[in-house]
Amino acid sequence: MPSTVPAADPVRLLQDLIRCASVTPAEAGVLDVLDRALTPLGFAVTRLRFEGNGSYPVDNLFATRGTIGPHLLFNGHTDVVPPGDRSLWTHEPFGAEIAGDLLYGRGAVDMKSGIAAFIAALAEAPRTGRISLAITNDEEADGVNGTARILEWAAAQGHRFDFAIVGEPSATARVGDSIKIGRRGSYNGKITVTGVQGHVAYPRQALNPLPVAAAIVTALSGKLDDGSEHFPPSNLEFTSIDVGNTVTNVIPAMATLRFNVRYNDKWTPESLDAAIRNVIDGIDTAGTQIALEVPRVHSRSFLSPLSGAVETLSAVIAERTGSRPEYSTAGGTSDARFVAQYCPVVEFGLPGPTMHKADEQVKLTDLHDLTALYAAFLKRYLAP
Ligand SMILES: [Zn+2]
Repeated sequence: MPSTVPAADPVRLLQDLIRCASVTPAEAGVLDVLDRALTPLGFAVTRLRFEGNGSYPVDNLFATRGTIGPHLLFNGHTDVVPPGDRSLWTHEPFGAEIAGDLLYGRGAVDMKSGIAAFIAALAEAPRTGRISLAITNDEEADGVNGTARILEWAAAQGHRFDFAIVGEPSATARVGDSIKIGRRGSYNGKITVTGVQGHVAYPRQALNPLPVAAAIVTALSGKLDDGSEHFPPSNLEFTSIDVGNTVTNVIPAMATLRFNVRYNDKWTPESLDAAIRNVIDGIDTAGTQIALEVPRVHSRSFLSPLSGAVETLSAVIAERTGSRPEYSTAGGTSDARFVAQYCPVVEFGLPGPTMHKADEQVKLTDLHDLTALYAAFLKRYLAP
């Protein structure tokens, strides 16, 4: 692994960050720590408090350095999930205690460590090119007034990014073995089938919505495609069939079906919507009324182009670790989905086996290795 460890110390910075109990969405001074680290490195730091949109106020930070050349964005979050049952921790969740090669604390992998490693790497980065950081303190909860709002604000200020790294845990076993180049999208839907309520002994005077509901479930469930080069097949799963009926002698008036689609880069929410409506239109309604509702905003799927900066990053990782990273699209959603609307983005961080668990911990060697890899990438990417 890398032999040169950057001069700036990611361990001290990570300890300072962990000692702020920034349980989502409480900021607890954690952005002051970043401000103090970034300002001496020549960054113009802007604190951004966003609120509204049906969610609570959130503290965020945007920092930028340089005015010409390729523009790299680093995105991350300083908020953490609650520690949970304290008796399960052998170290203080916000103590940042070190024992041997391990540093313990909430956020030690998810993802104060990614931020500490990137900032430590910045201390050695060339002063060419442009670097910006978009750091939110609300990724683990609503995420409404976080990264999406920072990027909207930055775009309005005239910032255009060429490539982005999200410092979330991405590795499977060792630093650099895997980077995330895309994510599946998620789409939630609700279908109601309306018939006529009646006595179960007189079915001809009623209209049971359940056979139609069953036909819909059968017609829509399962694979929507055969997958794509970097993604598994898109899949639709029903999660609930509900008639709210507690008795056995009443034919219910209405059935409510809920489903979720995890979808690959072959689909958009709009094309999914059209395809689902098309299947529903082919169902024999038997006199019932079928309605599709889309109750909440979906997260879109994305896949970053693999040429350019992704190739540069892979090459740097290969040179320093001996093997190219696996390109992954696994896992749930992250703020990368917001970043993907502005520029190609990868998630590149630590292995995360203890994230959200008691005794969350990071290996100090991993933290130094990640710092060295970020530093090597910055050197290559920002070279004039
Ligand atoms: Zn995270």
